[in-house]
Amino acid sequence: MAAQSPTPRNQYSFSRLKAFHQCPLRYRYRYLAGRRESFRSIETFLGSTLHAVLEWLYERRDHAEAPALPAALDEFARRWSEGWTDDVAVVRAGETADDSFRDGREMLSLFHRSTFTRDRSETIALEQRFAVLIAPDLHFTGVADRIGRTTSGRLFIVDYKTSRAPGTPEEFSEGLQAQLYAGCAIQQHEASEALAGYHYLRMATTSWHVVTRPRADENLRRFGELARTARDAAEFPARPGILCAWCGFNGICPEARVPVELAGGLRLARELGDSAGLWGPVEDG
Ligand code: SF4
Repeated sequence: MAAQSPTPRNQYSFSRLKAFHQCPLRYRYRYLAGRRESFRSIETFLGSTLHAVLEWLYERRDHAEAPALPAALDEFARRWSEGWTDDVAVVRAGETADDSFRDGREMLSLFHRSTFTRDRSETIALEQRFAVLIAPDLHFTGVADRIGRTTSGRLFIVDYKTSRAPGTPEEFSEGLQAQLYAGCAIQQHEASEALAGYHYLRMATTSWHVVTRPRADENLRRFGELARTARDAAEFPARPGILCAWCGFNGICPEARVPVELAGGLRLARELGDSAGLWGPVEDG
């Protein structure tokens, strides 16, 4: 079979497979029906704003400027207000957008103090998109937050996490995502191994995993199997649970289970009504 060009149908990102793994119905709405989620949770908005500021910090450093903390906090505030849209939802009752803004400032301050000012590694690329053919009709695609070399010359990729607790290698995300990107970096830089890191911004800790070439091949093979399972699925059952509160389809999903103390997204989805969830292109990473 000749290799097919990448299209939204045959390209599988880590987020796409994670959606399938967590709730096949959500996957169907988003990736097969091409619907847009009615709201973005404040956690997602906070994560993408912080990611953008960390990218900005390293970009500035590459231009021989290393922004001090006040400049980084100003940049965060600017991106927060410019990026804010009416579809951002505070899911948890009793929390406010200001709480998340403060949370972001604290994570950024901690990162600046404990990591950025001490980091002597070289940046090779920021927000680099990878695309790898894993079968004639399957492509892996993904975006690595930062690729670099340590002071001793080791290739690494790092993925920033804003989650409230550190993950473990047994979990779907922490077991595969950064490791897959490290495998792509190994191929691209013709290296024999790379370090795959998850940096937890709330705790200022990084968990590192060594990815060798055989390990990278094994990870891609495993990803290919998971992608085939999603591609060949004939049924997409709902898997309701705690994540329904953060699912932007909870306003239209007949199986949604959203407890009242986590109903901020659902309320916003109902308010936005027909103006949300329109058919449109899917953003993916
Ligand atoms: S609301 Fe829950 S069950 Fe429905 S699609 Fe979303 S995650 Fe799945």
